[in-house]
Order: sequence, then structure tokens, then C-alpha cells
Amino acid sequence: MIAEREKKFGCIEVVCGSMFSGKTEELIRRLRRAQFANQKIATFKPVIDVRYSEEEVVSHDSHSICSKPIQNPAEMLDIDPDVKVVGVDEVQFFDNSVVDVCQTLANRGVRVIVAGLDQDYLGKPFGPMPALMAVAEDVQKVHAICVKCGCLANHSHRLNRSKDLVVLGEKDVYEPLCRDCFNESLKENK
Ligand code: ZN
Repeated sequence: MIAEREKKFGCIEVVCGSMFSGKTEELIRRLRRAQFANQKIATFKPVIDVRYSEEEVVSHDSHSICSKPIQNPAEMLDIDPDVKVVGVDEVQFFDNSVVDVCQTLANRGVRVIVAGLDQDYLGKPFGPMPALMAVAEDVQKVHAICVKCGCLANHSHRLNRSKDLVVLGEKDVYEPLCRDCFNESLKENK
């Protein structure tokens, strides 16, 4: 019976969407709210994201929160036992092992909040995101505004022709587009 063991409150929450949709801001909002309630947090990001700072999750409007850059998702399993909430930014850049790590943490009783791009620049599901969304208790899709027509944007259109999946987001490299404008841009790029 539940009364005979310590109830655990672990879960996985996914915040996802295109570039400039406010994913990181939403992650930071949830982490700040937890901190305000004196819940100990730990925040991580893949070491690949060295855009601004080694030690911070930095959103585009530069509200920031300290984070640890890591190579391997398994490093998250070394958190202090009193950490109640784990945040992960740019989670799409990790390999699929991040899914098991998030599950392990959640099963231990940790609230795991991950933020990432749900699709790559071709509109394909990005890395571990589909699996994370499947096992998560809660998924929130956030949207940017299409720069061409003003509809809700669900896609990150790459403005240069690089085929590299990992080109980090700067305003002159990506633009958010809705489905219709994204499909038009794919036709133009052929
Ligand atoms: Zn549009």
C-alpha cells in the first residue's frame, strides 16, 4: 500500500517547438517557480551549445539560469540526492540514451523538465524528442510567429544551405515559419 512506502513525485515534462518559440524561457519559468518553493534544482545542457556561456542556460532575451554543460546524459544521474527538479535545455542534441536517463530520474522521484526543438530544419522529428514526448507525463508545444504571414509557426527554416544538422540558432541562420510558408520554402530550395 502507498502508505507503507515513501510516495515519489517524479515525472517528465517536455517543452518543445520551433526556434524563437520561447522553449527556454518556459523551461526557466518552471525552474524559477520551483526554486521559489525552495526545491533544489539542477540544470544541464549538451556541451555542443557554447553560443553564449559555458555555465548558463541562456534564452534569447537573456534571462538565464546556471547550468552544467555535459557530454553524456548519464552524467545527470550523479546529481545530489536532494535535487527535486532537473532541467535540460537543447535536449534534442543528446542521443537516445537521454530517454532512459530521464526515466531513471523520474522513477527515483525527480521532476524532469526538458526543452528542445521537436523538428529539425527539414521538418523531421529531432533525435530523442519523439521518444521523450511519448514517455512524458506532460508535453507542451510552444510556437513562434511565422515571419512571412503572422500565423503560428511550427517550423524552423534554415536560411543558409548547410546540410549539417547542428547549426546553432542565430537570427540570421533560422526563421520561424508556419506549415504553409515552410512547404513553400522547401519548394523554392529544391
Ligand atoms: Zn506563414
